[in-house]
Amino acid sequence: MKKCIRVLSVLFFIFLIGNQLDYLKAADSLFNERREMVETQIKERGIQDKAALEAMLSVPRHKFVPPAHRAYAYADRPLPIGHGQTISQPYIVALMTSLLNLDSKSVVLEVGTGSGYQAAILSGICKEVYTVEIIPPLGKNAAALLKEYDNVTVEIGDGYYGWKEYAPFDGIMVTAAATYIPPPLIKQLKPGGKMIIPIGGVFQVQRLMLITKKQDGTLVSENIIPVRFVPLTRAD
Ligand code: SAH
Repeated sequence: MKKCIRVLSVLFFIFLIGNQLDYLKAADSLFNERREMVETQIKERGIQDKAALEAMLSVPRHKFVPPAHRAYAYADRPLPIGHGQTISQPYIVALMTSLLNLDSKSVVLEVGTGSGYQAAILSGICKEVYTVEIIPPLGKNAAALLKEYDNVTVEIGDGYYGWKEYAPFDGIMVTAAATYIPPPLIKQLKPGGKMIIPIGGVFQVQRLMLITKKQDGTLVSENIIPVRFVPLTRAD
């Protein structure tokens, strides 16, 4: 009887280790995909910002991609997230993040939470992240995924108006294309702060613009690259 129990315990132990190894192997292969993504899609295209690269390596992008598209989570392209919206291509996420020049003291506003992935990336770099989503089911889903990211707060609403309560912001990132820069966002940007925003209509080539608010309040704008984003919509 004793022998039988011993054999059973050994078998159980082997079973446990086996399961653990499968789990580790799966986690490891996703980590490898992520490392490949960072090396070939991001570093090779010239992004050097250490904090952005580290965040891209550590955040599990596949968790923010709907199950139907999860196999392509680390592919070099945007993916559908439902409601006609998309999670941006990894390179664009890294580029926009690095251009804001953020650090561990930064308070940031994101307009267009979508999947929540960009907010998770910002979470690893900044002190506080405030993110606004206009489509309620997307906002709710992202809020659930972002629960474990303690410094991220999600709000459902029209991000055109920014988030006055937590302004001014060191950085503002708009992840939907606007035809002009929303004035409330300019107002809520700290002197010395930066805003990254795609400007242009849906059927036009949009320009990714980097806006810097100088200490005296004047704005400097730089045209970064042509991009294609879903439009910034307005609450009726
Ligand atoms: N940053 C997202 C990408 C989202 S795509 C991610 O990491 O997945 C752009 C998002 O902006 C969409 O979810 C869209 O619903 C949202 N959006 C569009 N207009 C908006 C507005 N006025 N205020 C807030 N969110 C808006």
